[in-house]
Amino acid sequence: MAASAGGRDASVELLCGVRVIAESLSGDNGSMLITDLQHFLDERGCIAPMPGPARRLAEFLTHVVATITHDLDEPMAPIRCRRRPGHKPCAGFLEVQFGEEFEIFWICPQCLDEGVIRGWEDTFWDLMFSPQGEGVPI
Ligand SMILES: [Zn+2]
Repeated sequence: MAASAGGRDASVELLCGVRVIAESLSGDNGSMLITDLQHFLDERGCIAPMPGPARRLAEFLTHVVATITHDLDEPMAPIRCRRRPGHKPCAGFLEVQFGEEFEIFWICPQCLDEGVIRGWEDTFWDLMFSPQGEGVPI
């Protein structure tokens, strides 16, 4: 991966070039949504432009990664559930934890939407080993 240590700006990924990727987006039937962040990124490590649902999923996943890796010593900032059952936003907040091999598990206790995120290490949203992360207070 091309990891430029410099620009870990959250707005960077919005500026990246055009490419369409959409795959393995099923999971709305209560099954666990297993995702690999690498599938959503272009060769620069940015979110690749893609159709709306895929893009929203990518933004959700990167948000989860950045939130849980931001500061391991602090309680995690709450993450709203992404689901909209009956076209209303789910009121749940995700429970997120690391599994083996640094997989990230997330689940909404309200609607039981759940998933696994892999392939997030060394992406822009991996703030864990980044002393110069996005304004991370020491
Ligand atoms: Zn939910």
